[in-house]
Order: sequence, then C-alpha cells, then structure tokens
Amino acid sequence: MAKQDYYEILGLSKGASAAEIKKAYRKQALKYHPDKNPDDKEAEEKFKLAAEAYEVLSDADKKARYDQFGHQAFDGTGGFGGGGMNMDDIFSQFGDIFGGAFGGGGGFSGFGGQRQRVVKGSNLRIRVKLTLEEIANGVEKKVKVKRKKQAKGTTYKTCPTCQGSGQVTRVTNTILGRMQTSAPCNVCGGAGQTLDNRPAGADAQGLEVAEETVSIKIPAGVVDGMQLKVSGKGNEAPGNGISGDLLVAITEEDHPTLQREGDNLHYDLYISYPDAVLGTSKEIDTVTGKVRIKVEAGVQSGKILRLRGKGIPSINGYGKGDLLVHINVWTPKTLSKQQKEFFENMRDDEHFSPKPESTDRSFFEKVKDMFS
Ligand SMILES: [Zn+2]
Repeated sequence: MAKQDYYEILGLSKGASAAEIKKAYRKQALKYHPDKNPDDKEAEEKFKLAAEAYEVLSDADKKARYDQFGHQAFDGTGGFGGGGMNMDDIFSQFGDIFGGAFGGGGGFSGFGGQRQRVVKGSNLRIRVKLTLEEIANGVEKKVKVKRKKQAKGTTYKTCPTCQGSGQVTRVTNTILGRMQTSAPCNVCGGAGQTLDNRPAGADAQGLEVAEETVSIKIPAGVVDGMQLKVSGKGNEAPGNGISGDLLVAITEEDHPTLQREGDNLHYDLYISYPDAVLGTSKEIDTVTGKVRIKVEAGVQSGKILRLRGKGIPSINGYGKGDLLVHINVWTPKTLSKQQKEFFENMRDDEHFSPKPESTDRSFFEKVKDMFS
C-alpha cells in the first residue's frame, strides 16, 4: 500500500504555511491523543502518522526534500520511511507544538521518561434516582449539571516559569553525586500554561460555573450503588486540557409492591379462602404494567407462581429474570356468628382435614427450586 501523503494526513494541501501545519497537527494530535482514546489502536495509528507528518513538514529542510522527492526523500536515510515514530518521540515534540500544555517530560527521560499527560478537568458526581420500571426498561435522563467551563474571552499563554514543560528541575549535590529531581511547576500547577486574559467572572484558571443539561442513557438492569460514567461532561480543564467525566451514581427507589432480588422480582399476592377454594384470576403489578394471572382452584398458601422473563433484564445483556408470585391465603381475624357456624360445620367435615400430596412441596424445597 502506498504511503499516505503527509499533507493529506494533516488535512492540508501542498504549500500550506508553517502556521497552518502547526494548527492542523495540533488539531489532529488532540483528536487522536491516547489519553482521549484509550485502547483504540486506530486512533493511536493516526496519532503516530500525524506526528510523523508534522515532524517532517515542520522542519524547513525536511519539508523541502519531501516537497521535491516525496516519501522517497527519506527512504534508507534513517528517516521515517520505515517504522515511524515511537510515542516518546511524539510526546517530546509536544513542548513545542502545544506551548507545553501537556507538561511533563523533564527530569529522568534517560530512564524511560515520564509519560506526558493531558491536563484533565476534575470529575463531577451526581446521584440519579430510578424507579424499578425505569431500571427494567432502561431510560434516558436529562439532568442539570453545574460544570466549570472556560469563560468566554479567556486566553492562555505558555507558563513563563517552566517554559511550558509543567515541570521544574532542580539539581542538588549529594554524597552520591549530583541528583536531578523534577517536580510539578507550582506556578501553573503542571499544566504548562497560565492565564493570559481573565474575563470578569472567571476564576484563577479562567473557568466559570455554568449550568448545562446533560442527557444520560441508562441501560436496563442497573443496580443500586452502580456508577456510570459520562465521558467529558465533568469540569473543563484550563488551556488545552480535556474535560473531566460526569460520574452518575444509581439509586433504586422502593417499589410499592415489587421486591427486587438480583434480576428476579417478588410479588406477594393475597387471596381469600373462597378464592383459594374456588380458583380466581387476579391482576398483579409487573415492571411493564399490570398483568392478569390465573389462580387454580385448590391452590395452597405458600405456592409460588413463576412468570418467566417478567423480571429485570441482566445488565450484561444475557436474558431476563423472572417474576415470582407468592400466594398467601388471607385468614380473617374476626367472624360473625353465622360465619363462625359455617366454619365449625366445615371443621367436622373430614374433607377439609389436610392431606398433603407429594406435589405440595415444603417451603425449603420451594426455596431450593427458586435458586436453581
Ligand atoms: Zn509552569
């Protein structure tokens, strides 16, 4: 495959000025920066290609050769015709291109160096209360968030103390010899940039608090206490930094009739003696609305009806839990004289004395079955 043209990589046409080249590379590097695209091989490749293109086009001599001979200008000369640049080379280039916005780099570069990082805004945390229905079906919530943003008119400049490196290096003499240590610059806090113009209302970093409505997609099956992340919706960072994240903690509201246990739901259904004896149909709550269920004549108290797939979808996307309906036969506490006589007659009737069958399994067997 033919090697892509360096101007094309940066989205430029031949004859672009040095300022245009710098601007275009800056844009690409920010877009494909590994801190912004973790574990994204394609972005990393583009990030490297852009760096390689910039390395050549930003150097007057290399650019002239490239303009005349194209990629062949660097073949076999130890240039970039082969393996491209490694990440350390690219990051060390940043001090120049970003006015040091990415900080770091100084100090012990001989020992592998410090990986330069984009300055990131702080995270914001909010709590979202969800009903069981919202959890079961998934929901999109719009929340108002107060986030710090770069105020209109704010501009930044290279930090004069660290010259944009974000680090200050100190050399001290010890009994082991000269030691070089580096620490984050305390003027810019390691950002490599300081405020140039601070409009009214902006804080010392050029930020101001603004209210914003953020839409949060909540997948079905989330659990109380779970935390979701909305990337880039936290506080903005000063200068060329990237925004922090919005961390959303899930709280599950109690449901009036349904109890959740993992992905299964439990519902207590109370029926009368006559209903237990004669059979009935009852409306019960589910997370997708009311459902009518049939209760067979002669049902025993404690029986569990399992409605398959009427529970909560698994957060991992594998299937759904069940809704377990627990039958409770309601016993009245007081009776009229006539009612009492009626039941006294029944008591003498041998037909009403308990004769459990093998299908009337014990409570423990039912519990065992529920978890199997
Ligand atoms: Zn500084």
